Amino acid sequence: MWVSVRDNCVGCGACAVISPEIFEIHNRKATVNQNRVHWHEDNCIDAAITCPVNAIQIDEY
Ligand code: SF4
Repeated sequence: MWVSVRDNCVGCGACAVISPEIFEIHNRKATVNQNRVHWHEDNCIDAAITCPVNAIQIDEY
């Protein structure tokens, strides 16, 4: 699984609450710790569903 954050992220922080291992907020944008995604895939999906602006993109390899 590959997780990325689109430019329309508004920095609300919801993803970092759901999955703090993966998402951090820097300068009002979410960043992804991609090297940890493998162990937290379900949380990444939950974050993507919860994101209010649909900014979290999930792709399969
Ligand atoms: S939940 Fe969506 S809008 Fe909010 S910080 Fe995360 S990626 Fe950005």
